Amino acid sequence: MGKLDQINDEIARCRKCRLGYSRTHAVPGEGPEDAEVMFIGEAPGFHEDRQGRPFVGASGHFLDELLEEIGLKREDVFITNVVKCRPPGNRDPKPDELKACAPYLERQIEMIKPKVIVTLGRFSMERYFPGASITRIHGNHKRIGSTIYMATFHPAAALRQPKWRDTIRDDFQKIPELLKMAKEHPVEEEQSTPDDEKYTQLRLF
Ligand code: SF4
Repeated sequence: MGKLDQINDEIARCRKCRLGYSRTHAVPGEGPEDAEVMFIGEAPGFHEDRQGRPFVGASGHFLDELLEEIGLKREDVFITNVVKCRPPGNRDPKPDELKACAPYLERQIEMIKPKVIVTLGRFSMERYFPGASITRIHGNHKRIGSTIYMATFHPAAALRQPKWRDTIRDDFQKIPELLKMAKEHPVEEEQSTPDDEKYTQLRLF
């Protein structure tokens, strides 16, 4: 049994918030247990709810494309959401739902220990860049402990707003460099600066 199986089972049976009663399938997320890069989106949509897998609709295809452009495949990374069950009609997750589901994501991060976490959209951004505006901080990163966090747009938003497609592409181009930084300069947990609100704009030359 893999170390994520236990948590996947718990999510599949979870009824800690109302979304557990309206979903078809919970969507815990997928990827290798030792993934170096983790992507965190918002919530499962229609297709994800049907299949129990993350990012399988149009935004999933776009995400695959973005990964390919930086030499990664879906199988190389861990992909999940801040809430694991679909909000009816794809409405925004409510604060109590976000709160109820948060421990699952924290446990996934704790188990996988990704070197780089990329937040996709404002709900996952809010968790690690509280109070920030995505249009202002996308593509910026900050370090918490040994993990580097970068915020960017949700692929679905970029599909709705073509002007953001190049923006999200540019943000993704930074991921390999962030991964290199995280590997070359590991920071021990006790040296972490979780209250550091300074974000860094990575310059690519
Ligand atoms: S959204 Fe999260 S907390 Fe709510 S039922 Fe699903 S797994 Fe449980």
